[in-house]
Amino acid sequence: MRFNEKVVIVTGGGSGIGETSARLFAAEGASVVIADWNEEDGQRVAASLNAEFPSKMMPRAVALKTDVSREEDSVALMEYTMQTFGRLDVLFNNAAVIHPKPIEEITEHNFDRLMAVNLKGVYLTIKHAIPLLRRTKGSIVNMASLGGIVGQRNNPIYAASKGGLIALTKSLALDFAPDGVRVNCVCPAGVSTPLLEAWTMEQPDPAAAAKSLADMHPLGRPATPEEVAQSVLYLASEHASFVTGVALPVEGGASLGY
Ligand code: ADP
Repeated sequence: MRFNEKVVIVTGGGSGIGETSARLFAAEGASVVIADWNEEDGQRVAASLNAEFPSKMMPRAVALKTDVSREEDSVALMEYTMQTFGRLDVLFNNAAVIHPKPIEEITEHNFDRLMAVNLKGVYLTIKHAIPLLRRTKGSIVNMASLGGIVGQRNNPIYAASKGGLIALTKSLALDFAPDGVRVNCVCPAGVSTPLLEAWTMEQPDPAAAAKSLADMHPLGRPATPEEVAQSVLYLASEHASFVTGVALPVEGGASLGY
């Protein structure tokens, strides 16, 4: 129960890795705020956490419709968290969008929107969460990607956003270290989530794409959302009390052997 009486915000907590992480945080005692753009998904996850992990004192989980790319939504998210739970211990920035296409097929609007969610959204949530995290000596975990370290074919702007996110993570780890607030990110390769499934289906030969995706990982398959979420919980927890500014690969060896 590493997160007993801790309060955790999960952006993009309405599906995939975010939902799985929210469930693991709740299972270890946390109260969770699901901040997803998709209100229905957010409410569904909050309701299922409340049913699965009932808490006598407070709701186990709440959801707030949040577009992380809008500053007023970040401000409202922090106000709602403080009104509901009175503190914030962990911010997990997981909300993201993806445009897995050659650069000529990516519109300027696609680029602007992707950067607004994947990079500006993290800047905004951290900007408004940090005063609360300083009070609790909390921690921040960002969802980056192996593509942000080594590049990724046919996914240039997503990889660029994640490379930027890794630099943001390291820079803020330096800035917040004197406050006792740690900042880390995880870097998965393939993860079996709706994002990846959408990418696979968009390929000319989806079955071949699924096979080459499995072969890309020396461990022979993409990660499960749970395997990535466990790394998120580790970095967020006191077990990682001397770990800050890392971009932790969680990629089944995908970057090895070159
Ligand atoms: P993954 O599991 O890799 O995080 P998903 O596509 O399952 O991939 O999850 C991404 C989540 O981020 C979704 O729940 C989606 O609704 C959410 N999301 C996307 N854009 C925004 C946004 N602007 N603000 C908040 N949440 C967002």
